Amino acid sequence: MKDTGELTVDPAALTRAVQALFKQAGSSEVEAALVADQLVGANLSGHDSHGVGMIPRYIEVWRAGELHLNRQPSVALEAGAITVLDAGMGLGQSAGHAAMERAIADAKRHGLALNGLRNSHHIGRIGHWAEQCSRAGLISLHFVNVISNPVVAPFGGSDARLVTNPIAIGVPRAGAAPLVLDFATSKLAVGKVRVALNKGQTLPPDVLLDAAGQPTQDPAALFSTPNGALLPFGDHKGSGLALMCEILGSALIGGPVMHASPTSRRIVNNMLTIAIDPGFFAAHGALDDSITQLVDWVRASPPADPEAGVMVAGEPENRARRERAAGIRIDAQTWHQLEDAAVSAGLAAADWRRHAGV
Ligand code: NAD
Repeated sequence: MKDTGELTVDPAALTRAVQALFKQAGSSEVEAALVADQLVGANLSGHDSHGVGMIPRYIEVWRAGELHLNRQPSVALEAGAITVLDAGMGLGQSAGHAAMERAIADAKRHGLALNGLRNSHHIGRIGHWAEQCSRAGLISLHFVNVISNPVVAPFGGSDARLVTNPIAIGVPRAGAAPLVLDFATSKLAVGKVRVALNKGQTLPPDVLLDAAGQPTQDPAALFSTPNGALLPFGDHKGSGLALMCEILGSALIGGPVMHASPTSRRIVNNMLTIAIDPGFFAAHGALDDSITQLVDWVRASPPADPEAGVMVAGEPENRARRERAAGIRIDAQTWHQLEDAAVSAGLAAADWRRHAGV
């Protein structure tokens, strides 16, 4: 432990601790493994905002009876290459995995799948689902809406109307890691503001408005009552994409949309996945070559910052995985919240720490 109280935890041990916590709460062995894999995987890929720090919120919502463990999504619609699954507020890591398995099977059969997943609890880092499709050799596009307390202002507005509606696109590559473009349509993901608050940091300017609609760098402004609002990335462009996520990611598949949804502490995600099997295209081999040459061409641009170089989507996450394989740093505040969540799930704090090797 450092002086700040920050811990460095072995990823395999952290995975075991998360599994133990969810099994204690009642998750099956498989579900506990899915949730641990995705959350620790988010920390490993550099996105602490969507890592184990989400567990306290999940446990709070589960205890409130608004998140269900071991619930498999039901089929709401099947028509050729189109499937809509309803997760019934099951754990998002189970629901997302089942939805991607279905999308992969449909795309292998038809060349293309349109898969809707609605009424799921938080499905975490969306790039994780693109990676599941990439491992099966599929290109995938994901449009997601988030139903929770509004935290993002529309471009030109001054109060929160939407959430951080993310978009991801995954492209598998021959002999290389997939390209995974995956971001929130707000300038910052909410979890990154939570991480800054827990670490006592200030935010960059031009990211957040306070509850009075004035710019602020204080992360606490997002969590005050009434709360402030994050700004959309790319002004009208990100704001427009967030709106399209409401329509494609949820309204189209019969899911809830922001203006008509009561809020609570739960985080509902709805996701439209379009999965494409490049094997159905005649020029499949040429596609691999094209992607390789294109990426080389882009990366060959003389770097503006020689230290950073030119990266393509997915590369920062791969770098983080290499750096964090030896240990994941968790700030003291988040660690305390995790211990409390373990206790709340029925796992003694000492057992949580023992599993985590701390
Ligand atoms: P971000 O701003 O860190 O951007 C990440 C994307 O940009 C990645 O594709 C990454 O590879 C790429 N990237 C980053 N730096 C780059 C560089 N220098 N050169 C080239 N590419 C680069 O992401 P974010 O908006 O903070 O989102 C973080 C995570 O939050 C995402 O995984 C997202 O799915 C998740 N999220 C989830 C929800 C939900 O409700 N489930 C909501 C919002 C966000």
